[in-house]
Amino acid sequence: MTSYLDTLNAEQRRAVEHGVADGATVGAPLLVIAGAGSGKTNTLAHRVAHLIVAGADPRRILLMTFSRRAAAEMAGRVERITRKVLGENNAAIMRDALTWAGTFHGIGARLLREYAERIGVDPAFTIHDREDSADLMNLVRHERGLSKTESRFPAKGTCLSIYSRCVNAEMEIEKVLGQHYPWCAGWAAELKGLFAAYVEAKQAQHVLDYDDLLLYWSQMMSDALITDEIGGRFDHVLVDEYQDTNRLQSSILLALKPDGRGLTVVGDDAQSIYSFRAATVRNILDFPQSFSPRAEMITLDRNYRSTQPVLAAANGVIGLARERFTKNLWTDRTSTQKPQLVTVHDEADQARYIVEQVLANREQGALLKHQAVLFRTSSHSGPLEIELTRRNIPFVKFGGLKFLDAAHVKDVLALLRFAENPRDRVAGFRILHLLPGIGPATAQRVLDQMAESMDPLHALAHLPVPARTGDDWTSFVRTVENLRYSEWPVDLERVRLWYEPHLDRIHEDSETRRADLMQLEQIASGYSSREKFLTELTLDPPDATSDKSGPPLRDEDYLILSTIHSAKGQEWKSVYVLNVVDGCMPSDLGAGTSAELEEERRLLYVAMTRAKDDLHLVVPQRFFVHGQAAKGDRHVYASRTRFIPEQLVYLFERTAWPKAAAGAARTGSQGPKIDIGARMRGMWR
Ligand code: ATP
Ligand code: MG
Repeated sequence: MTSYLDTLNAEQRRAVEHGVADGATVGAPLLVIAGAGSGKTNTLAHRVAHLIVAGADPRRILLMTFSRRAAAEMAGRVERITRKVLGENNAAIMRDALTWAGTFHGIGARLLREYAERIGVDPAFTIHDREDSADLMNLVRHERGLSKTESRFPAKGTCLSIYSRCVNAEMEIEKVLGQHYPWCAGWAAELKGLFAAYVEAKQAQHVLDYDDLLLYWSQMMSDALITDEIGGRFDHVLVDEYQDTNRLQSSILLALKPDGRGLTVVGDDAQSIYSFRAATVRNILDFPQSFSPRAEMITLDRNYRSTQPVLAAANGVIGLARERFTKNLWTDRTSTQKPQLVTVHDEADQARYIVEQVLANREQGALLKHQAVLFRTSSHSGPLEIELTRRNIPFVKFGGLKFLDAAHVKDVLALLRFAENPRDRVAGFRILHLLPGIGPATAQRVLDQMAESMDPLHALAHLPVPARTGDDWTSFVRTVENLRYSEWPVDLERVRLWYEPHLDRIHEDSETRRADLMQLEQIASGYSSREKFLTELTLDPPDATSDKSGPPLRDEDYLILSTIHSAKGQEWKSVYVLNVVDGCMPSDLGAGTSAELEEERRLLYVAMTRAKDDLHLVVPQRFFVHGQAAKGDRHVYASRTRFIPEQLVYLFERTAWPKAAAGAARTGSQGPKIDIGARMRGMWR
């Protein structure tokens, strides 16, 4: 009956069946620790399915993954696995009942809304994404006279990173400064004052930032009654990518399941790449000792994803790491094709090389979406994006600027957020700035007067009309008032109608932007309320791989461009890694200490282990550095990453491209120049 277990190897099967016996499904804590592509995620999906088949109630399963999309994929997989056993309809019902599947932040937001009144939080709180948080930090910074022009006080983004580290690592500010921001160590007292004011501002405005979702959740769990209630709701708690959780997250898990019964976590310490968000590999390494009796630990050592030469090269790279815990992987997928280590002249050639390879693969039948280009930093893909646009090759980009980061989309969302929570000053500022005649001082005055009132929207409606605004003001106030009572998702159309004249005034390319807003309405129609729409969009912006939502995508097949961080857990037939050179990988910015250097090595390992069949590491001899401090934008000469020293080179096939003799004309270098880059940048302004 349970034939789906037959596809698993013995170790995977042990993990899937752990604690499941005769209907008693809740077992001792379980840790699956194993290398890339060894089937951890697959095993987790089978475990969820197996638990359900054994009688576990899917509504009582809490499943936390790296992204909402990963959670949805997992739910789909659970349905497929259980279909044979449960029948078509039942399997679909079970999948839909798996309602507690999502990210830590998403689940946190849901629980906090539910318990808001009991913990003194306004249930209509809005959520700030990183950019909103930085804006609020900046407002507070200005209010306290700490702005950068007057002193050498850290920039808003740095302030936010420091704050975030303190919160997520549960560390004192002095320690965080000493370890990670030594150049800011003299500002500890001012930063403390700033953070206190930032926290006060968030509370006065009824907003939570990303970190608060974890922080409030973990604080809420210090109340025994609430902890019992929440812990008692779930028989099983399962977590994927456990190596990238931080202290707060592990303390939440511990509070949910103090004895660890029913807890399953899977991860790979060699893929720990989120220490900048205070993730700590100690969580996974200490897991077995955290419980008494100790957790069961299962390791997997067979890789099902990659061919032997690809795996050998990845093993080689991680084999030089200072510390390693998981063992080398093996595979029986033989191939004679070693990964390519390709030297090219510069980033323009790098782009041409990739386009040539991608098209050649497509000729041979590989879809574009089975191929991915990965890079350390979002800006590295610029030249490639230009080349792809020029050659008319559709692509989507993950991990960089997203659809929702576009100014016009943010404007519209800000108005919705302002209507939802009129105390949200970042949203308020953004939207007031759109009105002609309203400058920062007026905006501040309006928001101050609203903040002082018990009913801020009522106050807004009765404020004297600011000079020079006239009809624009009246129509703004009317729109906000109407939004308060209008039906979802009709509001969004109303917002667009209000916004369109401003769009035309602010942007030249208002046509494409208008299309984006229609797209946003389309996405909105999939949500049952404004609050759900805003929460989910802020926490986990849609991307193009689900057909219900995503950026305007006019083609069905497209090449994937992704930062390495966003490529976590995924796999493609062919993978191209850009700029495998010192300065990019390791990054000049990210490799100050040896711990940071080790993390950069793991990043390369994550990138390489995404490939199933072919892997290309591209080494441009020159690359472009975006203006850092006094040096400005410039080209620098580069050499192959130090993570592939001479002793590992035999694992690769070394080539230079283009192969033709020097002086041969390169495609694309003739003809008049068009600045597509500027045009594309303009799209997001
Ligand atoms: P990562 O560390 O990158 O997250 P992972 O350990 O989660 O990887 P999966 O993504 O679950 O690995 O699996 C990698 C690939 O191997 C997938 O294509 C999966 O379908 C396949 N796979 C896993 N287990 C088996 C198995 N027992 N038999 C055949 N294929 C398998
Ligand atoms: Mg995985």
